[in-house]
Amino acid sequence: MSLFAAVEMAPRDPILGLNEQFNADANPAKVNLGVGVYTDENGKLPLLACVKAAEQQLIEAARARGYLPIDGIAAYDKAVQGLVFGEGSPLLAAGRVATVQALGGTGGLKVGADFLKKVNPGAKVLISDPSWENHRALFTNAGFTVDTYPYYDAARRGVNFEGMLACLKGSPAGTIVVLHACCHNPTGYDITPAQWAQVVEVVKAQGLVAFLDMAYQGFGDGIAEDGAVIQQFVDAGIDFFVSTSFSKSFSLYGERVGALSVVCASKDEQAKVLSQLKIVIRTNYSNPPTHGAQVVATVLTTPALRAQWEQELAGMRNRIKAMRVALVERLKAAGVQQDMSFIAGQRGMFSYSGLSKPQMERLRSEFGVYGVDSGRICVAALNEKNIGYVAEAIAKVL
Ligand code: PMP
Repeated sequence: MSLFAAVEMAPRDPILGLNEQFNADANPAKVNLGVGVYTDENGKLPLLACVKAAEQQLIEAARARGYLPIDGIAAYDKAVQGLVFGEGSPLLAAGRVATVQALGGTGGLKVGADFLKKVNPGAKVLISDPSWENHRALFTNAGFTVDTYPYYDAARRGVNFEGMLACLKGSPAGTIVVLHACCHNPTGYDITPAQWAQVVEVVKAQGLVAFLDMAYQGFGDGIAEDGAVIQQFVDAGIDFFVSTSFSKSFSLYGERVGALSVVCASKDEQAKVLSQLKIVIRTNYSNPPTHGAQVVATVLTTPALRAQWEQELAGMRNRIKAMRVALVERLKAAGVQQDMSFIAGQRGMFSYSGLSKPQMERLRSEFGVYGVDSGRICVAALNEKNIGYVAEAIAKVL
């Protein structure tokens, strides 16, 4: 009897499975709106000019690659803090934030989850319904029971905010609440600053533990605008978690560049928390890789490159917004009677299109337009060349 005889085949990742199906499709007009990747007006994954310039600098000053500190490159961690909490934040001056470099946003979430399992082992984790599907798996694998709070309201084409708030109000102290800081994945619907204020109030009153997942800072309304929600939590004077991803905002998906920041009550607590985060990292992968974080740190701390990045990020953000508006117009032009303007009001890379599973299946089989069965499409993969075709296809299945 082999050791692995009883091992069962794990289900395929639904989105990566979709990619395989897309690659095998012979339809020359096929369009991939499944995976969450930004492509430019030519349908290409961009290499940002600021990244290329930083890499050139790094090659010219090429250095041997020793181990990094367990918590990563100090200049990188500091730059992340400036981005997330605002340069000159009193919180940073007070030394109250523990930030560690992590393997993408996923790595930041995982380090946070493992640390939380030590300090808050009996807590339940709440994620939005629906959420990025890895949230559930990641916190479950970290040993937590994961449940959901209401979020998407299909009938309203928006957020069931009363439902969300009521659920948080009814949750016991210590409950870990995973919140999308901006550009909600998969729906594209964010709550307003006034609604955030209510969430913060409930989190504080109930003694909940907020874990803000910020995978798309700069893709919504701007770097500072998208980061404003963080300030609301800071102002409430509570401890909370923020995971950061640069996969999208630097188009550095494969470099695995992210971070985890934990806001603590004092500098003394910060030192203790940081020491525990380091244990989590040390016992998982020892220390993080150099290249991606070095590139991001170089861009963020070199004024000319930073300005270039902000411009390139704005370019991506504005192109997505233009595609949203164009999709609404093209759908109308293609004869769609119902009001699709909600697509233009959503934020970030994704749109919950409102299409049903059978409609998404028809889009794939008849038109080679690949989205997720939930109706999620990646609007960041639309461009002038494919948007007309996509709109026509959607009009035919609606
Ligand atoms: N959180 C959310 C909401 C995401 O959409 C993603 C990326 N799809 C991540 C976290 C993970 O980011 P990364 O690829 O940097 O690990």
